[in-house]
Amino acid sequence: MQRIVVVGASLAGLRAIETLRADGHAGELVAIGAEPELPYDRPPLSKQFLKGEWDEAKIALRKQGTEDLQVEWRLGKAAASLDLGESALLLEGGERVAYDGLLIATGCVARHLPFGKGLGGVHVLRTLADARALRANLAGSPRVAVVGAGFIGMEVAASCRERGLDVTVIEPLATPLVRGLGETLGSLVAARFREAGVALRLGVGVQGFVGDRQVEGVELSDGKRVPADVVLVAIGVRPATDWLEGSGLRLDNGVVCDGAGVAAPNVMAAGDVASWAGPVGEAPRRHEHWTHAVEQGVHAAKRLLHGEVVEPLDVVPYVWSDQFDMRIAIAGEPASNDQMHVCHGSLEEGRFLALFGREGRLSGAVAFRRPRPLNAARRLIGERASFADAIAANS
Ligand SMILES: Cc1cc2nc3c(=O)[nH]c(=O)nc-3n(C[C@H](O)[C@H](O)[C@H](O)COP(=O)(O)OP(=O)(O)OC[C@H]3O[C@@H](n4cnc5c(N)ncnc54)[C@H](O)[C@@H]3O)c2cc1C
Repeated sequence: MQRIVVVGASLAGLRAIETLRADGHAGELVAIGAEPELPYDRPPLSKQFLKGEWDEAKIALRKQGTEDLQVEWRLGKAAASLDLGESALLLEGGERVAYDGLLIATGCVARHLPFGKGLGGVHVLRTLADARALRANLAGSPRVAVVGAGFIGMEVAASCRERGLDVTVIEPLATPLVRGLGETLGSLVAARFREAGVALRLGVGVQGFVGDRQVEGVELSDGKRVPADVVLVAIGVRPATDWLEGSGLRLDNGVVCDGAGVAAPNVMAAGDVASWAGPVGEAPRRHEHWTHAVEQGVHAAKRLLHGEVVEPLDVVPYVWSDQFDMRIAIAGEPASNDQMHVCHGSLEEGRFLALFGREGRLSGAVAFRRPRPLNAARRLIGERASFADAIAANS
């Protein structure tokens, strides 16, 4: 394979590029990135970067530089379309780039509300440019409203509060983070936020914004208003696949791939944009986690280079989130209806491992300030351990 093109110059793309070189690809490597920056790390954008603790140099994904990788970086220009038959892409502006092998790693874009576009002080957070704009807007002690109590929303709320700002989180569900953590653990998080002085407006939606040019507040579905000078809309993301419409690739909440990341012959997808089948043919699933993007980027590169000897990827999802003094980490996919068993501490201490069981199997584990036992639980989930065996192993 002479020329491999990677579209999306971020985490999954970079890890794929490193793997291609490490595994002996001596031909051309072209990386196309919509953003002007070399690959940088997104998790600090809602945490250390937003709090002003880290600068931009600190979030580079490759501090040692990228010379050794011999990549032709094409940054600041997005891929606009893909012609599978011709094995070529068109970039914005019309330039054509041919490939022998293609890796799609275009990640996700933030969702917006249907109103408030162009209103000063209203932000989303996905890119470094978003983070720069939000951070700049936090100078001058604004009142902050966060719409959406998912991981990004709660992280930003915690970071803003740690900056000493007046913060309100608005969420239509009754509990923050309920999709990832369930009711009980979500309520623990809510208590920690209230203790830190964050106002939580739960069980209420957002109807509009107050203000003509500059946001002055948020209108709630119960008729009340939350005054705000800065609003973060954190209502989730969607896969960045617009440019692939009509290409012939199967798109269904992401680029649909087999269990090794193959979307079409010599075309792979990895990371947040990709929906991979499970290792034994389970329906394709998409994840939005840092660790998954790394594992898939590495795996897809190996599959592209070495072919079918590379078997489907069999990994257990893992995600972490830092909010105030809490490191919350999740392995597997716990669900609200699962049974829960708390070990290695207690809910009262706010330091524990919670094991989740479904139909007799260990389905997931959540750690609050308990990283080590979570790694062991992640292994057990991968081994398809029974819930009873997992409890016994942790008692
Ligand atoms: C603020 C924030 C905090 C996070 N915190 C955590 C955390 O604590 N823990 C965790 O596990 N995960 C976290 N994540 C998620 C994690 O960062 C992502 O899972 C990871 O970045 C996915 O990597 P990726 O390479 O698949 O996609 P991305 O990092 O989204 O990169 C995709 C790249 O492709 C580019 N692109 C898009 N379309 C095109 C196109 N048409 N042509 C060319 N380039 C294109 C984009 O500009 C982008 O640079 C966080 C994400 C954000 C935004």
